[in-house]
Amino acid sequence: MAVAPPDAGGEAQELAAVAVSLRCHLERRARAGVHFVVAREPAPKPNTEVASDDLSLLSGVENDLFAQANPAYQARNLEELRAAIGDCRRCKLCAARTHIVFGVGNPKADLMFIGEGPGRDEDLQGEPFVGRAGQLLTDIITKGMGLKREDVYIANVVKCRPPENRNPEPDEVAACEPFLRRQIELIRPEIIVALGKFAVQTLLQSKVPITKLRGQWHSYHGIKLMPTFHPAYLLRNPGDKRLVWEDIKKVIEARRSA
Ligand code: URA
Repeated sequence: MAVAPPDAGGEAQELAAVAVSLRCHLERRARAGVHFVVAREPAPKPNTEVASDDLSLLSGVENDLFAQANPAYQARNLEELRAAIGDCRRCKLCAARTHIVFGVGNPKADLMFIGEGPGRDEDLQGEPFVGRAGQLLTDIITKGMGLKREDVYIANVVKCRPPENRNPEPDEVAACEPFLRRQIELIRPEIIVALGKFAVQTLLQSKVPITKLRGQWHSYHGIKLMPTFHPAYLLRNPGDKRLVWEDIKKVIEARRSA
């Protein structure tokens, strides 16, 4: 049987596509804080500025075979996204978790709250913000905003509990990032409330302290983002509840005038 000669033009195109994909992939990992290749030029410094809003949520994915191969980007709804996560073993947080805490609430919510990662109660119950800090968040939603928990969507940056409630590490955030991104894209909220330093700095790719970021509108790929203090911080610093109420009043006003 005759074997077709190699198609040099086709191979070159394929090679170029792989090169573009690799570059996009490494840039996305670097933006997530993971620098694991020896680069000829110094690795890019993490952004200290607030991210600009001219990027689409999945920017770069259309050219990125690595990202396209990630089932998270294929998911057409939250059920498919949860199925794509499966019994996740993509990072070391899987070792000690009880449940993957995917998120809860209205899949069409116009308002989304994003925290850091599950704590002990959340890990045991498989639902975000159900412990003491969660009760405070629930009070903010119900008593403060006059909404039900089921009206909004609640999720975290990482979906498995970091041991001893430590901050999630860059490789853990990088492993979970595609899921949160897709979750946000599928829900398409008008407003995100980012709870605490870690969530805010991760979403905005910023090192600016939460005390400077909170209370001001920011943009997460074109979605209005309001940073505020984490409910767990408020349990330790109840005097700052009034600042959170100031921030939440801005969210209430923005929803009213939307
Ligand atoms: N803290 C968080 O950031 N998320 C939770 O789900 C619970 C506590």
